[in-house]
Amino acid sequence: MISWPASTKLATVKVVSTIPECREARGSYAEFGFVPTMGALHAGHLSLVRRARELAGKVAVSIFVNPTQFGPGEDFSRYPRPIERDLDLCRSAGVDLVFVPDVPEMYPAASPRVVLDVPGLTSLLDGRHRPGHFAGVCEVVAKLLNIVRPSIACFGEKDFQQLAVVKAMVAALNMPCRIVGCPTLRDPDGMAMSSRNQYLSVRERTRGLSISRALRTIQDLASSGERDANVLRSTMIDLLNDDSSAKGVSTDLQYAAIVDAATLADIHRIDQEARALVAMKVGSTRLIDNVALTPAGSP
Ligand code: AMP
Repeated sequence: MISWPASTKLATVKVVSTIPECREARGSYAEFGFVPTMGALHAGHLSLVRRARELAGKVAVSIFVNPTQFGPGEDFSRYPRPIERDLDLCRSAGVDLVFVPDVPEMYPAASPRVVLDVPGLTSLLDGRHRPGHFAGVCEVVAKLLNIVRPSIACFGEKDFQQLAVVKAMVAALNMPCRIVGCPTLRDPDGMAMSSRNQYLSVRERTRGLSISRALRTIQDLASSGERDANVLRSTMIDLLNDDSSAKGVSTDLQYAAIVDAATLADIHRIDQEARALVAMKVGSTRLIDNVALTPAGSP
């Protein structure tokens, strides 16, 4: 449980923890940008804040580690919650409103679970390995969009399937919000930034770098003319299985897929916009990453 004053004025940031306070603080601005997060903020999150502010002028961030999107045995209880640091980062980034509810505020005991799903997109990839995950994501995102009522909401391509699911849900339910996808920010060594990277030991991080390396390699191969997705997939898997950089670190490659960027269905040729996606456990940390694959000759 997080403890801080219910409503704190931090420079220009209004921090609220209840739904009525959030509604009131959001006010009646026509344009309001929104970045939903689980906290432990990094430069990737802050790039979404910048984009939301560029597009809407005002920006709200939510910080909520959503229990309904974690499965049994996942890292809900150990997920990092450095709230004071996060609030400082929000203040420096010029966020107008931070919504930091606790679990009973979002899921009162008397309130039923509501299951939203986009089965065509959620039964694949992460949906296979994390049953119930996307139902939890859809539920919390729908609730947050109803509470904050943003005109635009920014989501990272880092979680490419999540972005696709949220876009589809918002369109299908006619929610009055534009979902904006934002590029993945990487550390200088190529690793996609993630709040979970802090779980990694030095050797695990070295091993985990095979993910961005494999993705970059096949991205280069695709842009220099390789259109056979099976060739790209097996090249990627070979690179992911190469443990020469950090022998003995345990890994579990959950998927290494090449899919149509719109439907997320497996493809055999790179003819239209495609995406390569990887999920691999390194030690006990589950890492995901993805890149766009563009056929040679495309703009
Ligand atoms: P999370 O706090 O992990 O739920 O992420 C909140 C939002 O930040 C999601 O839309 C993520 O896709 C996005 N995000 C996470 N990591 C990155 C990154 N490295 N670059 C850009 N966006 C990111």
